[in-house]
Amino acid sequence: MSNPTETPRGIGVSPGAAVGPVVQVRGPVRPPDNEPAPADPAAEHVRIKEAFESVARTLEERAALADETAQQILTATALIARDKGLQKAIGKELAAGKGPTTAVTAAVQTYAAQFEALGGYFAERVTDLKDVRNRAVARLLGKEDPGVPEFDVPSVIVAHDLAPAETATLNPSMVRAIITEAGGRTSHTAILAAQMGIPAVVQLAGATAIAAGTMVAVDGDSGEVTIDPSAEYQRDIIGKRERRRAALAGSAGPGRTKDGYPVMLLANIGGVEDAVSAASQDVEGVGLFRTEFVFLSRDTAPTLAEQTEIYTKVFEPFGSRRVVVRTLDAGADKPLAFADLGPEENPALGKRGLRLSALRPDLLDVQLEALGVAAKATAAEVKVMAPMVATAEEAAWFARRVRENGLPSVGVMIEVPGAAIAARHVMAEVDFGSLGTNDLAQYTMAADRMEGTLSDLLDPWQPAVLGLIGTACEGAKVAGKPMGVCGEAGGDALLALVLAGLGVSSLSMAPSKVSIVRYALGLHTMATCHGMATAALDARTATDARNAVLALAHEDLTALL
Ligand code: PEP
Ligand code: MG
Repeated sequence: MSNPTETPRGIGVSPGAAVGPVVQVRGPVRPPDNEPAPADPAAEHVRIKEAFESVARTLEERAALADETAQQILTATALIARDKGLQKAIGKELAAGKGPTTAVTAAVQTYAAQFEALGGYFAERVTDLKDVRNRAVARLLGKEDPGVPEFDVPSVIVAHDLAPAETATLNPSMVRAIITEAGGRTSHTAILAAQMGIPAVVQLAGATAIAAGTMVAVDGDSGEVTIDPSAEYQRDIIGKRERRRAALAGSAGPGRTKDGYPVMLLANIGGVEDAVSAASQDVEGVGLFRTEFVFLSRDTAPTLAEQTEIYTKVFEPFGSRRVVVRTLDAGADKPLAFADLGPEENPALGKRGLRLSALRPDLLDVQLEALGVAAKATAAEVKVMAPMVATAEEAAWFARRVRENGLPSVGVMIEVPGAAIAARHVMAEVDFGSLGTNDLAQYTMAADRMEGTLSDLLDPWQPAVLGLIGTACEGAKVAGKPMGVCGEAGGDALLALVLAGLGVSSLSMAPSKVSIVRYALGLHTMATCHGMATAALDARTATDARNAVLALAHEDLTALL
């Protein structure tokens, strides 16, 4: 497509194209230099506490108007604003002679360093902690809250990084696209944007320098952002969106290759609202229900009755369709307060996922019992799988517990390289496998998935990652068990063809990505998919792998990418 103007490129993480004026998310207000110490530190602390309390109330008010996912995130952020330990730390800074906003900033910095040292989920909460700080500092200085300003025409939201709380509360009908300077392929913001169907590009250098009101064209597939696009380019990109819409409108029904090989197309969900929304779309069911998302903000373990009610509400909208439930994937980037085993040096390599379940079998047992009851009460084809399985023994332990609860189908996520390599033995213990390509890439390439600047290493097109996926599929074949994909890789239309060629029989993704994947499959035979898989595996680099597959793809698909 001809594009005569400036074209920076980031990473496209949520598909679609859009043109609109930029709304810059307001940056934080800095404390004044040499802020004087208050005359009465105790009275000043009362004022600070009131500012934090008003921040908490604002977040709760927004939560009350938001959907389920946003509600949890906002409520969790409000809890940070009311943290007693944080107030104690602020009190100490005031007593040491600091001015009010300087004291708040210093105390939050100490807290943030502690969160960062804990790593994983805590490190990710640092964004929320800083969000609370920025609001409190602005209020203490009588300024407007930082964050997304009010705007009344559909716009492109641009930020250095968006807190999940900010992303989740955006009104999709007013947001044409999202661009961030930071963030990564598998960051929460990327996952939420795709779930909301908003085109998004992350890792765009210089994004925050684009003046508010500037027109930009955003391509959420290629990651291309065009500043001041020419009228012709705007027509091109909107034309591409319309062509894409028209092409995809004709694609419906179960996923299959051109020559009829079935590849099930499933949705990734994180709660009841997602379930209701996904069930109304053309998907064959759910390939990943991240149950820990439902309980992220809970202090106490959910009871049997509570869990039964939630799972029943998730299953019901799908009728007799498949719903694959993942048991709590707690720890590392997603710790649950009620399942906290204390700090670890390396949480991503620590007692997370199934390892945590083994240490807290009480939690697993209640969850499995609730799933068993909900499965019996509904018509859904319920399957249960474990996260972070590394060995055949772990798979066997989990399978026994699931079957004891009367649940007929048990599986494992293959997201640890060890499990992919030993898939022949691991898969022999269970009924199905599902590749978690987000963690598989993280562990294969030794690159933290929360670290946006390592996106190149985390690219699922890396031949080493594809090689491990191939090994896992071969192991599953030897064991005679089906293998699916539920990581973000499954929603990449081109990569989906490679995955099918490697032997994957189901793909699970954000519902907004299903139609293009279905379209891509329908244009290619299984023999072509095999050829694409061979070409990708033979490539030396991730870019070579993608280019090799692109060269083999049908032009009706490449015209839409
Ligand atoms: C994965 O790791 O690819 C996956 C699907 O699970 P999560 O992103 O929740 O870790
Ligand atoms: Mg994972």
